[in-house]
Amino acid sequence: GATIGILGGGQLGRMLSVAASRLGFKTHIFDPGANPPAGQVADQVTTAGYEDSAALLAFANAVDVVTYEFENIPTAALDIIESHGPIRPSREALRISQDRLTEKTFLQSLDLHIAPFADITDAASLEAALAEIGTPAILKTRRFGYDGKGQARIMSPDQADEALNAMAGAPSVLEGFVNFSHEVSVIAARGITGEVACYDPGENVHRDGILHTTTVPARLSASQRMDAVLLAAKVLNALDYVGVLGVELFVTPQGLVVNEIAPRVHNSGHWTQNGCAVDQFEQHIRAVAGWPLGDGQRHSDVVMENLIGDDMDRLPELAKERDCALHLYGKAEAKPGRKMAHVNRITRPQK
Ligand code: ATP
Ligand code: MG
Ligand code: MG
Repeated sequence: GATIGILGGGQLGRMLSVAASRLGFKTHIFDPGANPPAGQVADQVTTAGYEDSAALLAFANAVDVVTYEFENIPTAALDIIESHGPIRPSREALRISQDRLTEKTFLQSLDLHIAPFADITDAASLEAALAEIGTPAILKTRRFGYDGKGQARIMSPDQADEALNAMAGAPSVLEGFVNFSHEVSVIAARGITGEVACYDPGENVHRDGILHTTTVPARLSASQRMDAVLLAAKVLNALDYVGVLGVELFVTPQGLVVNEIAPRVHNSGHWTQNGCAVDQFEQHIRAVAGWPLGDGQRHSDVVMENLIGDDMDRLPELAKERDCALHLYGKAEAKPGRKMAHVNRITRPQK
């Protein structure tokens, strides 16, 4: 069978690897860290840094297609890999989504609603942007931010200096604060022939900047649901995308506002493991392997809850719960803020 190469060996890489294995593929993980969670389930692991061109070459040679679980892969590494075979989703999807400024410019070009934003390079550009956008606003680093890291809220213009210092010189964008009622996300997939399949939107609650729960169905009207799916398809088609993409949305009285996109399987799509016949991980593997997309119809109501740090102490109780599926990532040490596992509670099982 074919071998799928996965850049990144965290929990997403692990669950991709399990799904690939279920479809009869072999998987090969590339990760700089020792004992990555995906390494326990993959057929092969390369432990090397992204600057190690010899290791990258050998990895690229050993696999039939390369995909990834995170968006911050260095360009030079991608050059090496791409000279040996396809990367799915494409480099263009990576290039756009690994930088908030290019991402927002792209989303704007599709006429999607996004928060007002400005490129921030220094105190003067921040002052000008705050005069334009107003407060409250959020300053975010253009690259490498996740789980709310690399962000500073600005409630009034006198907090500008402090926020700028928090960016530590990293290129940033200022975003106007969106007054949303709740947050939802669409997990969308596009196959190699251009077919699109979207999962039912999930409603997301964050705690300390980290996703806490995703609930399906989300509180959305029929037309909001339709809007969410159509805008996700617009993004997929514009990128000629192959694979699964996460689209985070703010629900406002004026309509849906796009927060950010992620060119990969997404934490807010973990509910699909117990809510659909074909989950986001299998869907992604099908797409990057050139297979037809599978049935992503939701058959149950689900609440996904992330288990972070010492949430793991609750495992013995959770293990006894009815209609509760455990998904552990095999991480040795439970540190504060570290995603260790999640549970999917089926709240209305199909009869
Ligand atoms: P992720 O882990 O999802 O990649 P991230 O670090 O990229 O997160 P964002 O998604 O940009 O961060 O922001 C984290 C959360 O902060 C959002 O889910 C939302 O709750 C809040 N937030 C971000 N931007 C805005 C905004 N412009 N207006 C209001 N709230 C916002
Ligand atoms: Mg993000
Ligand atoms: Mg986010």
